[in-house]
Amino acid sequence: MTTRHEHWIQGKAVPPANGAYLPTLDPATREAGDEIAAGTSADVDHAVASAAAAQPAWAAASGAERSAVLHRVADAIEADAETLMELERACTGKIPAQLRSELDMSAGYFRYYAGILRTHHGRTIDLGHDNHTYTRLEPYGVVAAITPWNLPLNQACRALAPALAVGNAVVAKPSELTSASTVRLARLATEAGLPDGLLNVVTGTGPEVGSPLASHPVVRRIMFTGSVATGRALGHIAADRLIPMTLELGGKSPLVVFADADLDRAVGAAVTAIAMNSGQVCSATTRLLVEASAHDEVVARVADAVGRLEPGVDFGPIITEAQFHSVLGHFAAAEAEGAVPVTGGSGYADGPGAKGLYVRPTVYAGVRPDLRIAREEVFGPVMVTMPFADEADALAIANDTEYGLVAGVWSGDVARGLRLAERIDAGQVAVNGGALTIETPFGGFKQSGYGREKGIEALHDYAQVKTISLSIR
Ligand code: NAD
Repeated sequence: MTTRHEHWIQGKAVPPANGAYLPTLDPATREAGDEIAAGTSADVDHAVASAAAAQPAWAAASGAERSAVLHRVADAIEADAETLMELERACTGKIPAQLRSELDMSAGYFRYYAGILRTHHGRTIDLGHDNHTYTRLEPYGVVAAITPWNLPLNQACRALAPALAVGNAVVAKPSELTSASTVRLARLATEAGLPDGLLNVVTGTGPEVGSPLASHPVVRRIMFTGSVATGRALGHIAADRLIPMTLELGGKSPLVVFADADLDRAVGAAVTAIAMNSGQVCSATTRLLVEASAHDEVVARVADAVGRLEPGVDFGPIITEAQFHSVLGHFAAAEAEGAVPVTGGSGYADGPGAKGLYVRPTVYAGVRPDLRIAREEVFGPVMVTMPFADEADALAIANDTEYGLVAGVWSGDVARGLRLAERIDAGQVAVNGGALTIETPFGGFKQSGYGREKGIEALHDYAQVKTISLSIR
């Protein structure tokens, strides 16, 4: 029997106002999965009203009280790991290691923001003995969080934990492809003691739920993670309503490898960029720029390693039939422009990969920077490589993109690595595999968006600063 996932509003499961449900699919098998509530603006109205009613008391609680609840939410996520990972697997086909790392990050966001909310406050401003002047970080009220399908629970927790930590209430709208884990999270949060109405989840499509949510007059801030096109559409709504938003959009990020780098580790980073979530990661470094003298060797090693990756074991499927065909369409476009992959470039005709929406890990070597495959976000296990002559050339190619989400630089000359990192137009740059974690702020330059998730920065982004000044003369 098909399981149905309802909305989560005011601390309980709520069927959709119109009684309609949407199907989901297991992309690893192409079999139908659970159904999710097909929300409409009536459900959005209900959820926003619940959030607005619950928020003032939450905002009035002390940081210590909110922190205690958020720690319990983290505990609940960890205790429910198997169920959450199975819900996620059923509609994404993710491999176990990927599921586990996303689950750990999801709990980690609640743990981290539960901790830092007790240490981050406003400040006092010294205006002399005649005044007592200070600032407060105040919540916006009701925040809308609209999230994508590629790392569903992780992206939801990344937004919800800091938003709740500073005293907002949230209405979350997960991707209609992958909603079940976010609904389950809201149930767990309620059971862990998060007051009813503070975290509501309305499932459904972008036009039917996302758009009315962003347009709702009571919503005071929008957090959006997803594509540039949707981000732009929501940006118009936010501009019209004069409300702030965070936009976490796409990328076509460079991985710059100099000949003097630790090539074993650099090759490993390139393989991970292709394999992790099958390249369906906004921050995937899918443009491999290699110093000319090492280019052919590095490409050969990357192609050899990714050619040995096994579908369903080392990497998962593409999320939907439409996205699968979009990736194949990129292959066709590359072929039409004269590019030939050194490995991959198709789906699977037989074997385990043929059962699901798997695409062969693919490398196009030495491509011209103007080709579509070199410029557009493919969102599949696809890498392009380009040789560069020197540091200036590497920088020019790295920055020759509309995007600016992340970059990686590998060099045995650490000063050169940092020099390049400081000149690349991207929100975060890892030099020689430097870690990017929950503690490190994350967000885009250029068309990759604005605002910051993660780190202390997200806590500040979900709060508005109020200055209060008292004359004590
Ligand atoms: P998408 O833009 O199609 O959908 C994202 C969310 O927006 C979904 O919940 C969807 O239902 C909703 N939506 C769609 N149309 C809408 C509309 N008109 N109004 C309101 N909401 C609407 O993106 P996707 O295909 O789910 O995700 C892939 C994209 O997300 C890629 O471009 C990827 O790079 C990006 N992404 C960025 C980050 C980041 O942190 N920067 C993280 C993950 C994914």
